[in-house]
Amino acid sequence: MDHFLYRNGILHAEDVPLPQIAADVGTPFYVYSAATLTRHYQLFKEALDGIPNLVCYAMKSNSNQAVLKLLADLGAGMDVVSGGEYLRAKAAGVPGDRIVFSGVGKTRAEMELALGGGVRQVNVESEPELELLGQVAVSMEKTVPITIRVNPDVDAKTHAKIATGKSENKFGIPIARAREIFGRAASTPGVQVIGIDVHIGSQLTDLAPFEAAYLKVAELTHRLREDGHDIKRLDLGGGLGIPYARSNEAPPLPMDYGALIKRTVGDLGVEVEIEPGRLISGNAGLMIAAVIYVKQGEGRDFLILDAAMNDLIRPAMYDAYHDIVPVAEPEPGAEQAPYDIVGPVCESGDTFTKQRDMPPLTAGDLVAFRSAGAYGAVMSSEYNTRPLIPEVLVKGDHFAVIRPRPAIDEIINRDIVPEWL
Ligand SMILES: *Cc1c(COP(=O)(O)O)cnc(C)c1O
Repeated sequence: MDHFLYRNGILHAEDVPLPQIAADVGTPFYVYSAATLTRHYQLFKEALDGIPNLVCYAMKSNSNQAVLKLLADLGAGMDVVSGGEYLRAKAAGVPGDRIVFSGVGKTRAEMELALGGGVRQVNVESEPELELLGQVAVSMEKTVPITIRVNPDVDAKTHAKIATGKSENKFGIPIARAREIFGRAASTPGVQVIGIDVHIGSQLTDLAPFEAAYLKVAELTHRLREDGHDIKRLDLGGGLGIPYARSNEAPPLPMDYGALIKRTVGDLGVEVEIEPGRLISGNAGLMIAAVIYVKQGEGRDFLILDAAMNDLIRPAMYDAYHDIVPVAEPEPGAEQAPYDIVGPVCESGDTFTKQRDMPPLTAGDLVAFRSAGAYGAVMSSEYNTRPLIPEVLVKGDHFAVIRPRPAIDEIINRDIVPEWL
């Protein structure tokens, strides 16, 4: 559920008509709904009610500080995957003891940053990382709580680029070697083993792979406890999928996911962490674009928008589907015609969708890409020297620009032409 609905024939973000924001900030732009972000976070809290838990928002899905602050104020922790994200979470006011540091290639500098500023735990992904983290902690006269991420060799049945739990993926340690590596961690100075971490992929639309992974983690918890480890926390990762097409069958609900967690690890007496990103931010955001031209091609017509692949890369990168709807509600029974919907960037990959049935649209009309709140703005680039598009947050009947559109000069002036040239 989201808070983007037609009222009096105009698509709104909560109580704000989208054309009003467009008139204020220009197109294209991203717009997020505070009520939807809040609701999605709370769905997870309700789903985990009854077991000790922390919902650590995977901020890589949408890391605007306004979004982080909103979620942190509700009690969320943050899952960060870089020093930059760590500092950004801190800048948004998230305390270190609610920040979990994930990622397969943490550098010494990033470890020093996290240990210096405070961290809830570091999720270790390899033996060399374990060794370096221990050295860094010892040199700073600290002991850092860690989990070790295991790779359960489970097929998440999602797009190959966002599957992370198969043995061929770069993530985690092979679960078959977990007892050996946990043993090594227990005797590594500077680190304190407190739990197990797993994350098998993103946009999962079936609970079965989660169940397979969590059962393996539960089994491992017993084995590690037999070996004398004090396993008190399980980080179960993120990855629950969202409905991108309204017409498709909806993925499992957070409540069912929570029930699965309780069923698989609920009796272990552990604290549970989850790291949802997409389910919190995805359907809390739209990308709004304007039609520049309606172009008649050979055997097909094109809607050329002012937004492009650099603004929303998901269709080009993951063959992702986004619902695209006119901001002005079409008349009931309006005739539809198929269009290729494209941006102005100079490559054919800049295609959002092909042969999508759309109601009649003309130059200047606004369209909304639904489900664009996650892996949208954060993955945008300045390709073709196109400025990053603004982000807007709506709450009730007010809205604010939470990242402005930079001036073209800001981009151009960043380049340095050497004087010897
Ligand atoms: C990307 C990622 C997540 C979030 O995945 P979503 O599909 O957005 O929920 C959580 N944990 C880790 C370690 C990740 O890399």
